[in-house]
Amino acid sequence: MRPLTYERASDPAAAVAAVTGNPDAAFLAGGTNLVDHLKLGVATPGVLVDVSRLPLDSVDVLDDGGLRIGANVRNSDLAAHRVVRRSFPVLAQALLAGASGPLRNAATTGGNLLQRTRCVYFQDVTTPCNKREPGTGCSAREGFSRNLAILGASGSCVATHPSDLAVALAVLDATVVVLGPDGERRLPYAHLHRLPGDSPEQDTSLAHGELIVAVEVPASGLPARSAYRKVRDRASYAFALVSVAAALEVEDGTVRDVRIALGGVAHKPWRATTAEHALRGGPATEEAFRAAADAELERAEPLRDNGFKVPLVRNTVAATLRGLAGLPDPGPGDGSGPDEGETR
Ligand SMILES: Cc1cc2nc3c(=O)[nH]c(=O)nc-3n(C[C@H](O)[C@H](O)[C@H](O)COP(=O)(O)OP(=O)(O)OC[C@H]3O[C@@H](n4cnc5c(N)ncnc54)[C@H](O)[C@@H]3O)c2cc1C
Ligand code: SF4
Repeated sequence: MRPLTYERASDPAAAVAAVTGNPDAAFLAGGTNLVDHLKLGVATPGVLVDVSRLPLDSVDVLDDGGLRIGANVRNSDLAAHRVVRRSFPVLAQALLAGASGPLRNAATTGGNLLQRTRCVYFQDVTTPCNKREPGTGCSAREGFSRNLAILGASGSCVATHPSDLAVALAVLDATVVVLGPDGERRLPYAHLHRLPGDSPEQDTSLAHGELIVAVEVPASGLPARSAYRKVRDRASYAFALVSVAAALEVEDGTVRDVRIALGGVAHKPWRATTAEHALRGGPATEEAFRAAADAELERAEPLRDNGFKVPLVRNTVAATLRGLAGLPDPGPGDGSGPDEGETR
């Protein structure tokens, strides 16, 4: 049996020092992902540095109406916060779409963003997996790939990022505040998660021992209405097959501003900038929403089992934007029916 020691950090700087100085150490927050990985043998740290009781658990309202969310704010507390519910519905909806009540009570903001892929081969230590053990190969490419990526994957890895919160933050143009051995740095949210390339073992751009202390969400510039829509196999306890976070502003039938991020399709939350560009300044119609999604999906490279995600993304983008624009649901037979991309 491999020995494992546990220590509780007294303050954020001490936590960073404890992990930075030891390649065998890892931060422990709510433990809802890391403890599973300890049991499965996927993660094998020698030292756990518990950061869950550090005073990083407040949600502060910024001068512009935005938020500074401490890394230890529990998912359930964030979803229930009055400003989140009023001004950032996309955030509240994404959080409530994740996991289950008891898990959300334990799961932290920082831990949620840094949870690891649910690719079944990653979690099965008897199979080759470049993310878990670099250079061993990717079992998923020719294996069970129903849940995996259609955008931005590489020959090394086709995993998807599992977090719902991470997708919502992608449309909010958030900033991640990170503490390292040399002090704090501010990371644009889009640079936190990375595509797999040749080094899928690295989920993010954080160095070993860097601690997320907060996530800041600006209010200024955010389109008036926002929403999160998640398509999954079951109504709870299920990760997204596809999800869409969107914010939209329509004036006189014209898209003034739009932001779209996709979940369940890539190694990181996928900001759909091609679709956004296609929509801005154009008509806010069902046809335009579908055409914009198709423009984004031109780069899609489905695997054997996940071609259904292409029409599912198109339909989910259209449904989310339609809801935000207040357009009626055109009903079945128009390309949005179950035969064209709903889950089976
Ligand atoms: C059955 C089940 C269903 C789930 N369904 C969903 C779902 O539908 N949607 C969804 O989004 N999530 C889902 N989850 C995942 C759950 O939300 C995550 O496990 C949780 O958010 C992780 O947070 P944590 O605080 O427990 O992190 P931990 O498990 O403690 O840590 C996770 C990782 O983050 C690192 N870490 C933690 N805090 C910090 C920090 N401040 N700075 C740097 N590194 C840090 C840890 O070292 C570790 O590598 C599900 C989990 C389970 C078990
Ligand atoms: S897709 Fe990525 S996580 Fe899954 S087996 Fe391949 S390398 Fe591992």
